Amino acid sequence: MTVPPDFNSANNQATQQASSLMPTYARQPIAFVRGQGSYLYTEDGTAYLDALTGIAVCGLGHAHPVVAQAISEQAGLLVHTSNLFEIPWQEAAGQLLTKVAGMQQVFFSNSGAEANEAAIKLARISGHKKGFGSPKIIVMDKSFHGRTLATLSATGNAKVQAGFAPLVEGFLRVPFGDVDAIKQLASQHDDIVAILVEPIQGEGGINTAPQGFEYLNQLRELCDQHDWLLMLDEIQTGNGRTGKYFAFQHTPITPDVLTTAKGLGNGFPVGACLVQGKAVNLFAAGNHGSTYGGTPLACRTVYTVIDCLEKEGAVENAAKMGNYLVEQFQQKLTQYQVTVRGFGLMIGIELPIACGELVARARDEKQLIINVTADKVVRLLPALNISQADADEIIARLVPLISDFIQSKT
Ligand SMILES: *Cc1c(COP(=O)(O)O)cnc(C)c1O
Repeated sequence: MTVPPDFNSANNQATQQASSLMPTYARQPIAFVRGQGSYLYTEDGTAYLDALTGIAVCGLGHAHPVVAQAISEQAGLLVHTSNLFEIPWQEAAGQLLTKVAGMQQVFFSNSGAEANEAAIKLARISGHKKGFGSPKIIVMDKSFHGRTLATLSATGNAKVQAGFAPLVEGFLRVPFGDVDAIKQLASQHDDIVAILVEPIQGEGGINTAPQGFEYLNQLRELCDQHDWLLMLDEIQTGNGRTGKYFAFQHTPITPDVLTTAKGLGNGFPVGACLVQGKAVNLFAAGNHGSTYGGTPLACRTVYTVIDCLEKEGAVENAAKMGNYLVEQFQQKLTQYQVTVRGFGLMIGIELPIACGELVARARDEKQLIINVTADKVVRLLPALNISQADADEIIARLVPLISDFIQSKT
């Protein structure tokens, strides 16, 4: 069965009957019922080339046979016990994930926001251990950290926060890339405990700091100097997306706290908060928990995803295909005043004008799934194991769309 028994298609549903879902998303009028690799299919069998992968989630592509097999086998064995018991797959996934991350311990959550909640709690408990009654965390403009109350309070986007005051206290905000602003805060507050930052801002428009990854070195130095925790949100940039397993691995530094989710389960909902060095053992029994966090099913999936990424050379492929795509877009769009930014297969093409309408045009005219973020940035997050032929297909479908669009508007 590819759709529920009385499903009408998203189009009809919108007009013929009121949806029973809260309208938290402005949904596109299309439903996919199956996927394979870099392609999604509607019920009538139309194929769409997926350059979004559920927003950087399905790094191994859709319906990956090894991952699907692991999920179905584990579903037939044991889905859930409880963290009241030992969970061998959680140990195994933890071993593998800490190894590829170069971290020491992990807490498994069910989402990215929950991984960041764990990081925020770690920062606070580190402060309370130093005797600070109201510890502060430095966060960035244009950041995105999630939709729970603490993570939306940390987020640097007024739209995400609007309507939800009172926000969670204890965050100090600075411009992304501005080291002097942090030094100034350090001179004004003696109860700062951590910096929380995305190495590359995803929702913010695929931005690195003006000084590039040198920013992370500077933040590491400040954190060492002041005994703060450097906490990297790699929920979007992790799991091979930027051409290294984690984005910080493009630099010499290691964070104290690292969060990830999106690509970690290839679509299975799971997140992780990792620690090393001075952040190890900050939580004791009873300080944090999750009923679902780290189930045998979730952790066997994580284990299988990491194993497949490695065996298929998907991270190296992301680096190679990313360079190729960026080069091609730069070459082919050079006369249109676009800026192409790319780190592995996390690619942003910034246009001189707002381009939200390109999402529907790419879908309906080119059967290509893309996303636009920060109004003007076409965001591409294709599967990490994408083939050369499919990468060329993205270029062939997208370049004329963007060039025609800019020519028609300017
Ligand atoms: C998606 C995202 C989150 C939130 O993850 P959820 O799984 O949606 O809670 C947090 N931080 C970053 C950088 C993200 O891209």
